[in-house]
Amino acid sequence: MNNTLTTFVVPVLYLLSAVLFIFGLKGLTRVRSARRGNALASLAMLIAIVTTLLDLGFVDYQWIIAGLVIGGLVGAVAALKVEMTAMPEMVALFNGFGGGASALVALSILWKEVIEPSYTESAAAVLGGASAITAFLSILIGAITLSGSLIAFLKLSGKIGGQPTLLPARHVINSVIFLGCLAAGIYIGFFSHAPSAMVMAALVATILSLILGVLMVIPIGGADMPVIISFLNSLSGVAAAMTGFVLGNNVLIIAGALVGASGLILTQIMCVAMNRTLGNVLFSGFGQEGGSADSGEYTNVRSYSPEEAAMILETAESVVIVPGYGLAVAQAQHAVKELADLLQKRGVKVSYAIHPVAGRMPGHMNVLLAEADVPYEQLIEMERINPEFKTTDAVLVVGANDVVNPAAEKDPKSPIAGMPVLQVWEAQTVMMIKRSLSPGFAGIKNELFEYDNNMMVFGDAKKVLQEIVSEVKSLNAAA
Ligand code: NDP
Repeated sequence: MNNTLTTFVVPVLYLLSAVLFIFGLKGLTRVRSARRGNALASLAMLIAIVTTLLDLGFVDYQWIIAGLVIGGLVGAVAALKVEMTAMPEMVALFNGFGGGASALVALSILWKEVIEPSYTESAAAVLGGASAITAFLSILIGAITLSGSLIAFLKLSGKIGGQPTLLPARHVINSVIFLGCLAAGIYIGFFSHAPSAMVMAALVATILSLILGVLMVIPIGGADMPVIISFLNSLSGVAAAMTGFVLGNNVLIIAGALVGASGLILTQIMCVAMNRTLGNVLFSGFGQEGGSADSGEYTNVRSYSPEEAAMILETAESVVIVPGYGLAVAQAQHAVKELADLLQKRGVKVSYAIHPVAGRMPGHMNVLLAEADVPYEQLIEMERINPEFKTTDAVLVVGANDVVNPAAEKDPKSPIAGMPVLQVWEAQTVMMIKRSLSPGFAGIKNELFEYDNNMMVFGDAKKVLQEIVSEVKSLNAAA
């Protein structure tokens, strides 16, 4: 029976798990199928865990059950409590734990297979060259992911300052630490030594990797953290895949590779949408929080009341809503849907313009609007909606700023020059709901505030939208 298990049942279950992971990921590419994708991936994980336990045979279930209960509880409470706007922080923490877990598994393999039996041979001699190298990479990448993600979490949650910390000669310091780490890895992998020396080398490699993670993330501004989190997510996948090689576990290799590749693709998408390179995000110290623009810089700003905004919307034939970070902060997705429904009932054509980096994480606006049951067909991507602004009567910008800033196209010296933006200024009238003239993420002036066809509607997005909704309702009733 045991033989049948290991030669037939276990590989088939691992294969099933890997296929489910792939279909789960595929499901996550569409809002409609995202829940199903998530459920498939969770099922894949359950199958992988049960199969691993079957494969291991007799193990101490006390520890496993304790881990499942504590981990499950922490995960469930965190997922239920987290605010939508704090999602990147939670992802950062979970990435970090994933990386840490991979490093710990690799360390425990070294301990169990090489150090504890008191071999004096190198890890490569005991485990084989490939396993020794991947064990070291697992420790290196896993520990960098853990400490880097914790710093990203602390920066994003405001527990430490978001400003980039630029140490003098930081590239030299990082290179020296990396070389030290590599030397420890080579020593573990390829030199004979006493077990105590091996423990010391493993500790040195782990500690240096942890320091490297911190030093890699502190020079990056808090506002660039979402890109870094996506990158660290990719690294956590690579660390898991490396651990899969050490353990000879195919499903871990496949799942890790999926996370590694998808995280990297996401990082690339975010960089392209911000017109930055990953190198620029990692090494330039851009993305400092706090703006350079202040309200004194604006001279020709017109402001509308919610009542006036309602009247413009009422007379429009086509309205495009542009959601941004402020919509998420104000949790105004239900109010915006109510307004859109009212306008549609009056025969107004309503659509939503989705910028790829609106908000603070990829897909942020899609998720928020899906939560309010906004039909997916009404969400139009930037490339498709931009040509339509010329024939749009009114654009309602809700808590967005950088993604509609004309400086990206018109001012080559602007920090966001070249970033593709929503060309809302082409519409007949633009109305921007935000609380003040403060800048957005990029911390720069937005000349759209001064355009002749732009009106500011000052206030919290949810409150203003609710006021507009009640105005539209009373106008409807009076008609
Ligand atoms: P911005 O950060 O440019 O602007 C958001 C605006 O929302 C602010 O100017 C703020 O103005 C307003 N706001 C905040 N709270 C409220 C509220 N309660 N009610 C109304 N308005 C509010 O957001 P965008 O979505 O336009 O742009 C996203 C930015 O984030 C881009 O620069 C992008 O590059 C960056 N970014 C995005 C990532 C992603 O993956 N989506 C990742 C990394 C960076 P005020 O204070 O006056 O109300």
